[in-house]
Amino acid sequence: MWGNIQQRFAILMLMVALLFGSVFTWVWVPHIRDMVINIQKREIDNQLEVLGDGILPFLLQRQYAAVYETMQSVQDRHPDWPVLEVYLADGARLYPLTEPAAPGNENISVHEVTISLRGEDLAHIRAVVSLQGVVQSLSRQTDGLIILFGVIFAGGILSQALLLGMLVRRRAKLLLKAANEVARGNFRAALPPETDDEIGQLSAGFSAMRDQIEDKEKSLIAARERAEAAATAKTQFLATMSHEIRTPLNGVIPMAQLLADSDLTPEQRHCVDVIQTSASALQTIIEDILDFSKLEAGRLVLRNDAFSLGDLMKEVGHMLSPQAFAQGLQLAVKIDPNVPDKIVGDKARVRQVLINLVGNAIKFTDRGRVRMHARLAEGGDTIELRVLDTGIGIPKEDQKVIFDRFSQVDSSDNRRFQGTGLGLAICSELVRHMGGQIGVKSRLGHGSIFWVHLPLVTMPELVAPVSFEICETCDLPVEEYLDILIVDDNALNLDVVSAVLAAMGHKTNTVNSGRKAVDMVKTRKFDLVLMDLQMPDMNGVQATEAIRRLPPPRNSVPIVGLSASTSEQDSAVALAAGMDSFLSKPLSRPKLEAVLRRLHCAVPAGASGPAPETCREVSVNQA
Ligand code: ADP
Repeated sequence: MWGNIQQRFAILMLMVALLFGSVFTWVWVPHIRDMVINIQKREIDNQLEVLGDGILPFLLQRQYAAVYETMQSVQDRHPDWPVLEVYLADGARLYPLTEPAAPGNENISVHEVTISLRGEDLAHIRAVVSLQGVVQSLSRQTDGLIILFGVIFAGGILSQALLLGMLVRRRAKLLLKAANEVARGNFRAALPPETDDEIGQLSAGFSAMRDQIEDKEKSLIAARERAEAAATAKTQFLATMSHEIRTPLNGVIPMAQLLADSDLTPEQRHCVDVIQTSASALQTIIEDILDFSKLEAGRLVLRNDAFSLGDLMKEVGHMLSPQAFAQGLQLAVKIDPNVPDKIVGDKARVRQVLINLVGNAIKFTDRGRVRMHARLAEGGDTIELRVLDTGIGIPKEDQKVIFDRFSQVDSSDNRRFQGTGLGLAICSELVRHMGGQIGVKSRLGHGSIFWVHLPLVTMPELVAPVSFEICETCDLPVEEYLDILIVDDNALNLDVVSAVLAAMGHKTNTVNSGRKAVDMVKTRKFDLVLMDLQMPDMNGVQATEAIRRLPPPRNSVPIVGLSASTSEQDSAVALAAGMDSFLSKPLSRPKLEAVLRRLHCAVPAGASGPAPETCREVSVNQA
């Protein structure tokens, strides 16, 4: 831009110089030359007049020799007078004696003077003068002047251009600095003044653009904050809702189990079956929604345990085989021999993905078989888990969207099946968190292959394997009944947990507040305390801390936290407060049995003292 200005300035100066030069050369110089020549001519006329006066006495006295000598000496002094002649009035030549040679025509001037006395002409003087010398000296002078003006103009242009360049460059630099500052998020950097020239206009345009960017950035930040607040509110709402729905489910599931374990007529058994199936479907949906909101909020914490992939796949197979069997499907598990027996990862999350994929495969397959296959891929760095079915298949266009949340293939065939459309979205997020990939290949009417690639981490990288197997194998002797204190502000929960534990043969005691629990533990010995976390007045965490501060041996009673929340944070807070384990509601008999088995393994009934570290760390709802 500034180069442009400089060019324009230089062209302008050049034009002024040309105009000035032309006027000087074609108008002033001829004019000055004419003036000088006229002056010169007048001077010559004057000199001839003086010469005439000088030779008048000689003419009167007819001293023609003196006239001759005078004229000769004059001509000697004036080499630029090639012709100087004197005639008498009658035409007789006095000087020179012979006719002189005619001079060239260039720059000559002819002068004549008549010498007269009292009206009588005596003689004539005629001179032909060459003005060549005058003209040459004049043109040397004007040439010098033109060169001088040229130098002055060129110097002027150069210095002006340099000055202008410096001025423009300084402002351009300021503009560039401001642009760089905008890139760094500073919208207040100084700008060149908004003058009328290009840089000034650029500065004004830049300033307007900068203001717009700043406004847009502010509104974007505000929109992002609103979106984040909305997302937080949504996650909070989902967590609260699922907590609220889990609480009544906590009453439904264990009570239905108690009913199912009792003697029932066939109709009653059918009713209980329907209740149990519906309750567990509801529980799955709530867990799906919770999982998804956790994943969306980035609150998922992955564990790093060593586990046998083969055992896990067989476990999933066993778990889902009744469903496959009921549909007349064959369910097979295949593990390639080169797949390492123990791998490191989040066993529970890998299980969740497999259950989802195999569950879908069974759900969408009417006949044929469902297979789970583990093999090594990509040069042995990746484990590939495949779930293959001979089911309804997925249309090509739907294969791209089924991993999006709430997406279900919308065919009349598919409408027969229940689901939330969240399962694959959760799988996809979980696999992504584990550093892997998930995908599908399918042919409509022929079946589908869902594949999961997970980075292979094997045993040598394992830091500290959790000794969960040791606890798992330790059984609670059947005749061992425990004295258990149940603490919960919700009367329904107290009834349910107490009924389940009583059905298992244990002795139960109930209190509805943390403070009462601490008082009870002070006065009596219990084998176990089941403590709700959320209670008014003194919550489960505070009550646990108070119990741990009691004098021994009362302070070492095993405490298991209970909560409708599944958040890792709650479980971490509970364990940090001194609880030995943590259970999420709704409770079920298998969950309670598992935790009692583990705690019994660590603390034999009747014994006191803290459970070994390995058992304390086990999160029971992961088992
Ligand atoms: P849903 O809870 O509906 O099963 P998913 O996210 O698990 O939700 O699955 C999304 C959709 O993908 C299903 O509704 C179904 O249309 C399709 N789908 C998933 N797995 C299969 C499969 N093995 N065969 C055919 N369709 C499938």
